Amino acid sequence: MSQPIVEIKGLQKSFGSHVVLKNIDFSVQPSQVVVIIGPSGSGKSTFLRCLNGLETAEGGTVVVSGHPVVEGGRMMPETKLDALRAEVGMVFQSFNLFPHLSVLDNITLAPTCLRGVPRKEAQEQGLRLLKKVGLEHKAKDFPGTLSGGQKQRVAIARALAMDPKVMLFDEPTSALDPELVGEVLQVMKDLAAEGMTMLIVTHEMGFAREVADVVVVMDHGSIVESGPPSAIFTAPREARTRSFLQTML
Ligand code: ADP
Ligand code: MG
Repeated sequence: MSQPIVEIKGLQKSFGSHVVLKNIDFSVQPSQVVVIIGPSGSGKSTFLRCLNGLETAEGGTVVVSGHPVVEGGRMMPETKLDALRAEVGMVFQSFNLFPHLSVLDNITLAPTCLRGVPRKEAQEQGLRLLKKVGLEHKAKDFPGTLSGGQKQRVAIARALAMDPKVMLFDEPTSALDPELVGEVLQVMKDLAAEGMTMLIVTHEMGFAREVADVVVVMDHGSIVESGPPSAIFTAPREARTRSFLQTML
């Protein structure tokens, strides 16, 4: 085994007296695709958000792409988290594109403003990324004119523009009409095939079965079990996994 790119030990997170993540241990190897499943409220989003410092954890150690996020229960200062966030792309259910910027400007904003990439270079890279997600022809359009699937593909291209080492996806297709889900999953499959390290929260079990290297089952703030999709979907060890999968049928 090579050095993990994501290493989590004893991660604890509470909101007030409500413990939401209970002593999570987990590692991700470079180029692994990890799909996180589990009932609503089980802590999946909080778990992802802890990986790029969007939530303040109270216990444990989290190291992502060489950057400590939490160390011995202490959060790193924001200045250090900025360096981490530049290397960790995140895609949300709700796209979060800037409505007043063109598609291409949405993509070039972070590289030009945060990295000092010259505008022309950022635009060339932006067009390459748009081509990759099949939307080169939408470069000059505004987000409001796009379908949900197109918006989400732009959001993915925007995250890729920072050249991330790890991509986090939180239910990227949950807000989409069913006929638009496939085009977003296809972009994610392509990324997986290129060797991108990805952690994905999704209810798309077919995608998980086909693309995941590891499926993680969460319930009540704990990892119930994890393993290859062949094991989790056909021979789950835990009753809680079986009952969750039952609800997905
Ligand atoms: P999931 O993504 O699996 O649905 P979440 O990580 O969103 O779960 O939430 C886990 C638990 O933490 C839930 O009980 C939720 O109500 C609670 N929670 C999440 N965010 C907050 C917050 N900002 N303040 C208080 N409680 C929160
Ligand atoms: Mg969630």
